[in-house]
Amino acid sequence: MKVYADYAATTNVAPDVVAEITKVLSDHFGNASSIHNVGRDGRRILDQARSIIAKTLNATPREIIFTSGATESNNLAIKGVAYQNQHMGKHLITTSIEHHSVLHVFEQLEKEGFDVTYLPVDAKGFISIDTLKQALRDDTLLVSIMFGNNEVGTVQPIDEIAELLKDHQALFHTDGVQTIGHMPIDIKALNVDLFTVTAHKFYGPKGVGLLYVKDKTPIQFQQLGGAQETKRRAGTENIAYIAGMAKALELVTENIEASNVHLANLKQTFINALQSNEVPFEMNGDMNITLPHITNLYFPFSDVEKMLTILDMNGVYVSSGSACTAGSIEPSHVLTAMFGEHPRTKQSIRFSFSHQNTEEEVVYIAEQIKKIYEMNRKE
Ligand SMILES: *Cc1c(COP(=O)(O)O)cnc(C)c1O
Repeated sequence: MKVYADYAATTNVAPDVVAEITKVLSDHFGNASSIHNVGRDGRRILDQARSIIAKTLNATPREIIFTSGATESNNLAIKGVAYQNQHMGKHLITTSIEHHSVLHVFEQLEKEGFDVTYLPVDAKGFISIDTLKQALRDDTLLVSIMFGNNEVGTVQPIDEIAELLKDHQALFHTDGVQTIGHMPIDIKALNVDLFTVTAHKFYGPKGVGLLYVKDKTPIQFQQLGGAQETKRRAGTENIAYIAGMAKALELVTENIEASNVHLANLKQTFINALQSNEVPFEMNGDMNITLPHITNLYFPFSDVEKMLTILDMNGVYVSSGSACTAGSIEPSHVLTAMFGEHPRTKQSIRFSFSHQNTEEEVVYIAEQIKKIYEMNRKE
């Protein structure tokens, strides 16, 4: 059996999305900036995609800026706000569990003289609203807190944070990448200023994403050149992939409920199967306030490198937040934020499922883990 269970890293591209991309690539190749008929045809496809996306997320079309993915969107949101507003202060707030495309940008800004507060999280991976309240200063420019965590699935209280920031000068950015397709997103109701999305986490292609920028948000645009994206992000738009992203977004949004029911069932089946196999494990994150597709488990009998290798050989494709560099395992920064220095940060695996996974598959994974456990006991 071959089981891909690494959907938080990337998904396959849905067949209808492939069809959409192929159609646009072959039939609508015009440059959206050309004013002749062929260019206008490309522009029409681009405009259509933008309105579908805006409508699905409840934003206005001009609030959507197409980018090359979440890394670029996060860079644009954070640097754009920091540079544009630095006359009002130098203080920025984020968390210690952000994706590296957020964390490394803040580290760079610190080197440039900005003052950054990294909010801690508790053992379940949640920030505290009180700690955020205490961290806020009159000169805070930006609060960037991810919506759903990509390693442990924890969902932060975005509405409470937005409420807290309502009367503060600080702008609010959230990396919403992992929530798309799992939570209905109404950006207006969320009350955020900036929201990051990338297509390849919801059955769209890699290398395309967007940044929602609320109307009138003061931001310095980073990519200079032509007048694309109303002068906010230069470079000829990848119309085919943008159309594919719109299709993918429509599809996952229609299926949120059915898919979440299936995913919750898979998570429970997986946990039951591990328990009935008598495999020792503990969950990282929260069983309830969580993204349904992510299950991160601590196995106190094997380091991840060994486990991932054996699972791979047995056709199970999963990952961990830890990076393997030159044979040694770097502990996950997310698990370190939750547990401090502990073997747990190097003995945990992230399983991320999709509506395409089956109960048989998760039971198979549990059986493979059971074998590894038995093997380790005999050693
Ligand atoms: C995957 C991911 C990113 C990066 O997306 P890219 O498309 O690789 O730029 C950023 N944030 C989160 C939470 C992610 O899961």
